[in-house]
Parts: sequence; structure tokens; C-alpha cells
Amino acid sequence: MIELRNVTYIYNEGAEDEKTALSDVTLSIGEGEFVALVGHNGSGKSTLAKLFNGLIEPKSGTVTVNGMRTTNHKDLFDIRKTVGVVFQNPDNQMVASVIEDDVAFGPENLGLPSAEISERVDWALQSVGMGEHRKGTPFRLSGGQKQRIAIAGVLAIKPRVMVLDESTAMLDPVGREEVMRVITRLNKEEKMTVVMITHFMDEAALADRIIVLKNGRVAGEGGKEIFRNRALIESAGLELPLAARIAAELRECGVELQGEITLPEELADALCR
Ligand code: ADP
Ligand code: MG
Repeated sequence: MIELRNVTYIYNEGAEDEKTALSDVTLSIGEGEFVALVGHNGSGKSTLAKLFNGLIEPKSGTVTVNGMRTTNHKDLFDIRKTVGVVFQNPDNQMVASVIEDDVAFGPENLGLPSAEISERVDWALQSVGMGEHRKGTPFRLSGGQKQRIAIAGVLAIKPRVMVLDESTAMLDPVGREEVMRVITRLNKEEKMTVVMITHFMDEAALADRIIVLKNGRVAGEGGKEIFRNRALIESAGLELPLAARIAAELRECGVELQGEITLPEELADALCR
């Protein structure tokens, strides 16, 4: 669905404050995958998210979305229908004072007939578990509920890929869990491709594949076994997921634990065994 080849991106090129945000990044996101993109602040994660849907163009290298180059301006509309991005702050993503109008904003801009818009709004709100709030106002909702409305707004466009750029960062643990539950369900049941940008390793542990970014370069990637590579994770300025950290320290003390352990349930299972 998304392919980057040797991508370099430079902010303010030629100016005194020139900054190379990405250097020679090659990566791909397959259809139906749930990928976590992790890295310290400033490692280039948001720059990648903006490249994914053609908000910015690479300085060199190529970004291809479902076969379309993001530098092909005639394809930009289709690219943005294909890759939907949810950002960090839900308050900046609300455009209307009634929830259903807010969620309808995207499909309206696609010029869809009103019956289909209404259907999509229904489906999107149901998908995030906010169906009964359709006629309500977003302003009194909790952070987690607001972010779910923002996700519904992107869902209503029916993108094939959903990119969440630290979309849980401003939420409390309950709100984070609500959003993660919705995202995992969309990936598993609706087969939506998900790219989850996060610095919460416990969220990254829910993904099928993890890509670690460090100083604008891919420092490593792999399945959950990547959390066995403590040096890699820590050199990227990150922490292991809590369950993986406890498992690593128990193993160092000689406790035998079977299998990959990244989730609390897996740690509990291994300890019981
Ligand atoms: P992350 O999302 O991982 O925190 P970003 O992609 O936002 O990282 O930033 C990567 C690097 O590019 C950082 O050093 C950041 O300071 C710089 N940067 C990001 N946006 C801009 C901008 N609009 N102008 C100049 N530099 C920027
Ligand atoms: Mg960022």
C-alpha cells in the first residue's frame, strides 16, 4: 500500500536552520498490516506521516501509495482518499458543532450523494462506538471520545490506510485504551491497513510489525521479537514495553520464560506456566 525508496527530506533547505529530517529511508507497508512506527521526539515520524499522503514531497527518492507516486499531482486526490491521517490533538480536528456534521465533512468534500454520506456517517460512528452521540456536540466529550470522533471523520472517507500520528498522546490511559481497541478492531475485522505512530511501547506491542526510527533513519524493524533487542530499542531513546522489560529482567535472573513476551497477558501466561 505504501512504499518509500531511499527517501530523504530536508526542511528549510539552503537556509541557516536547514534540517535533514529523513535520510535514505526505505520501507513498505503491506495491505492489511498493522505497523507501529516508533522513535524518539524529532526522529522524523511526523515527517513520514506527511510524506505518506502527499502533504509534502521527498527531496530525493520516491513515495508510492497503492501504485501512485505522490509527486504526480493528478493523483493527489486519490492518494488522500487512500491514506487518511489522524493527528495528535482532537480539538484541532473538530470542524463542526454537531458530531454528525463533523464526521460528514470528509465525505461531503468527496462530493458524495447525501444518502451515502448519511450511511457512511452512521457506519463510521458505529465503528468507533459513538453511534448514540450522532446528534450531540463534540465539545463536552472526553479526550478519548473526541479522538474517536476524529477517527470516525477519517473513516467516513473510507481510506484503505489509516495513519495515526501520536493520536493517543494527549489522552488519559482510559482514552488511550478506547482508541487502541477501535484501531485493533478496524485492522482485524475491517482489514484496514494501520500505521500507528507512537512513543508508547505498550501500544507498539499490539502491532504485527514494528519499525524503529532513529535520527531520520530506519534503525531496525521486525515482529515482536524486536523487543528482545534491548540495545536497539534503548539506543533509539525508547523503552521496552513494560511486560517485555519485566520478562527481560526475570530472564537475566535465571527465570525461564517461554515465547515472545510483550503484552501483560503473555507475561502472566508465561509466569503461570
Ligand atoms: P517526530 O514526529 O518524530 O517528533 P518530526 O518529523 O516532527 O519528528 O521532525 C523531524 C525533524 O525535523 C526534527 O528535528 C524537527 O525539529 C524537524 N522539523 C519538523 N518540522 C519542521 C519544520 N516545519 N521546519 C523545520 N524543521 C522541522
Ligand atoms: Mg511527531
